[in-house]
Amino acid sequence: MTRLYDDPARFAEDMVRGFAEANAKYVRQVPGGVVRAQPGADGKVAVITGGGSGHYPAFCGVVGPGFADGSVIGNIFTSPSAEQAYSVALEAECGGGVLFAFGNYAGDNMNFGLAVQRLEAEGIPAANIVITDDIASAPAAEHGKRRGIAGGFTVFKLASGAAEAGYSFEEVRRVAETTNARTRSLGVAFDGCTMPGQQEPLFTVPDGKMGVGLGIHGEPGISETELPSAGELAQRLVDGVLAEAPQGAGNRVAVLLNGLGRTKYEELFVLWSRMTTLFADAGLELVEPEVGELVTSLDMAGCSLTVTWLDEELERFWSAGVDTPAYRKGVAVAASSGTHTHRHAAARKTELAVAPEAGQRCARTVAAALGALSAAIEQASEELGRLDAIAGDGDHGRGMSKGATAADQAARRTAQAHAGPADVLAAAGDAWAADAGGTSGVLWGAALRAFGTALPADRAASTADVAAGAEKALETLVSLGKAELGDKTMLDAVDPFVTALREASGDDPATAWRKAARAATEAGAATASLSPKVGRARPLAERSVGTPDPGAVSFGIAVTAIAEVLEEKA
Ligand code: ADP
Ligand code: MG
Repeated sequence: MTRLYDDPARFAEDMVRGFAEANAKYVRQVPGGVVRAQPGADGKVAVITGGGSGHYPAFCGVVGPGFADGSVIGNIFTSPSAEQAYSVALEAECGGGVLFAFGNYAGDNMNFGLAVQRLEAEGIPAANIVITDDIASAPAAEHGKRRGIAGGFTVFKLASGAAEAGYSFEEVRRVAETTNARTRSLGVAFDGCTMPGQQEPLFTVPDGKMGVGLGIHGEPGISETELPSAGELAQRLVDGVLAEAPQGAGNRVAVLLNGLGRTKYEELFVLWSRMTTLFADAGLELVEPEVGELVTSLDMAGCSLTVTWLDEELERFWSAGVDTPAYRKGVAVAASSGTHTHRHAAARKTELAVAPEAGQRCARTVAAALGALSAAIEQASEELGRLDAIAGDGDHGRGMSKGATAADQAARRTAQAHAGPADVLAAAGDAWAADAGGTSGVLWGAALRAFGTALPADRAASTADVAAGAEKALETLVSLGKAELGDKTMLDAVDPFVTALREASGDDPATAWRKAARAATEAGAATASLSPKVGRARPLAERSVGTPDPGAVSFGIAVTAIAEVLEEKA
């Protein structure tokens, strides 16, 4: 249970503020997250950790000399937006390029991917290091599909060590990728975690049972077993991880026994006392192991074991000194004060053009449509969260409602400034992506922006214009999300929506939209029989069968709300 908060929807913002104030010696708060209080040396590669919050000390707790240069901080269990990642990167970079390191989740991949594109377009070398250590989340043959859990800690540490040692962009990248390829984790949960403001945990584990192969966002375990003794659990975790030893690995290992938030350090030490013997029996030498909370999952009860097989170079960076709010080790390099001029994201604002009267009218309709959408999503928010909690992480309602509210406000503001529909949808899309985070947030944001590019500024939008806009949105959704039809995503509702709009080309826009909204709602409900192939729900695909995809359902709700506005206006 998370008991202390004011507005649950602003929990992450309030948390970051307190964190930064408490650690002013180490970090400076910037839009989207935090960066080191004293920037790294000129020309240093900036390593930036990130992802959703709720994992402290990951990820913002390890910003400081010897470790990360900055951390992008999303809402609880929700990917930060591309804008947040970009903005933190501009503040953190020291002239040597930017490496974002984060766990393998669709939302993070897309948002950090977009941020990389933007940095590269400005001539700043940038790349993503995607962490895939969780052996329970996909078979070894599909290593790239595995999700990232506590192994991120080792990858961040070693990449940061290489960057601090003055390695070049490509060399730091190689160290990070080698570390990820040599890192394996397995976790168990004794009980679920509860989001701030919620009464019910995201999942529960029956008394006397244990979930094996948990995620760190409230995704329940892959299987359930009897609760073992400490010795049995030690055996199970060590056997599981060592069975996956990478080829040609040596015998010196960095090991993390990580508490997930509600498991006592004393219990971890008992478990550790059993593990050391097992590692010794397996002929492994432990190099500066860590036992404690490194990557948590709010108040989840449970733990995970991570092993990184070291070589001489990796061992050097594992042992290197660090001085950060949550993690200190040896003697860190002195905090340097680089002189690299930081570029401030806020400086880049463009003027809005005033549209002709017909375009302004269309823009007002768009703003009204987003207002109705936002109200309908707000009402459905709890149910959407429930759908997402069955096999995903339970944040879909919250993310959608944050995104839609922000889009509604931005659209109204922009329409009042006499802009046309393209500018209104661009502002709404950017605001959505920035506030919602998550997979659906980045997709909705980009899709709204794309929709707007097809709407004329100097005449009323025709059914063909609207269909062209929907098609642009669909193209963006596919190119960004890379899902296919039948993968059980919002695409399974968006595609039939676009087809229906196109088929209704003889109708007026309101009638055509209504038909398409019906098609989307039906298709959304029909996703219940599918099994997810991408996204956070994939590792628990079986559990999801029988429940419709949350993103497809919310899409139906959204376009239905818009149909009402269009009918009224007509
Ligand atoms: P997250 O998965 O990051 O927690 P949300 O819970 O807000 O984000 O949204 C989940 C929804 O996003 C899914 O129900 C699905 O409809 C949609 N989604 C996930 N991955 C993709 C993808 N690759 N392409 C299209 N839609 C996707
Ligand atoms: Mg979700």
